[in-house]
Amino acid sequence: MKIVGISTGTLQLKPTFLEGSPSHGGPFGLIRGIARDPGFTEPLPMWAWVVETATERILVDTGGSPGTTGGVTRTRFNIAQNESLVCELARLHLKPGDIDRVVLTHLHGDHVGGLAAFDPQRVWVAKAEWEPVARFPGRLMRFMTAPVPRGFAPRVFDFDGPPLLGFTASWPVTPDGSVVALPTPGHSPGHTSYLVRRPEGDVLLAGDVTYELPALECQREQGFIANVEKHHDSLRRVLSLAKSGVAYLPSHDPSAPARL
Ligand SMILES: [Zn+2]
Repeated sequence: MKIVGISTGTLQLKPTFLEGSPSHGGPFGLIRGIARDPGFTEPLPMWAWVVETATERILVDTGGSPGTTGGVTRTRFNIAQNESLVCELARLHLKPGDIDRVVLTHLHGDHVGGLAAFDPQRVWVAKAEWEPVARFPGRLMRFMTAPVPRGFAPRVFDFDGPPLLGFTASWPVTPDGSVVALPTPGHSPGHTSYLVRRPEGDVLLAGDVTYELPALECQREQGFIANVEKHHDSLRRVLSLAKSGVAYLPSHDPSAPARL
């Protein structure tokens, strides 16, 4: 079992963004706050993870792409042409065709940027994440909330597997249970984290549950929260997982790979 992080360049967030929409009275309050904020964080990674299991090579998320823009978040993306997902894979001597399956934590632009290189039949996302943007009226906002390539339709899964480690349901990604999807909704409607079970210790590839470990420890909301109640529930469950010794690897934490 091997996990390798690749980042498609970096992004810089408005510090106000990390205060979360609930503390600004909702998304519109946060948008106003962000617009007034002249600052930017240090450059942060956009991790996609190559997971080599005994039976297949899985890619979790696909990072951003050259040309990704921040929209209302005013996030600054620094992604050179040679920092695309395909170029980053090439640095690992991999081609898109060497990836058996792509699984997504969620559909935000900095996680779906490399999707165009893959056959949609090999791309999986939680049904709860895809459904709201698959049809009218959510489809109209897809350019902001789920900017997948035109005509792209991934395969969807339900959390129809057994309860696991404090989560009420799961979805076994691999038949041997070495990679398991856990529902962590809130940041987005069907946000998903991926538990990788290794002899040397379990790892949670946690997407945007929080942007870094201290925020999880403080149960802090960060960014736009699609469902506050579900998000609090996810924060609680993920923290207890982390406290039990599971390595917490969110997508924009520079120190995430050091926890592998
Ligand atoms: Zn996100």
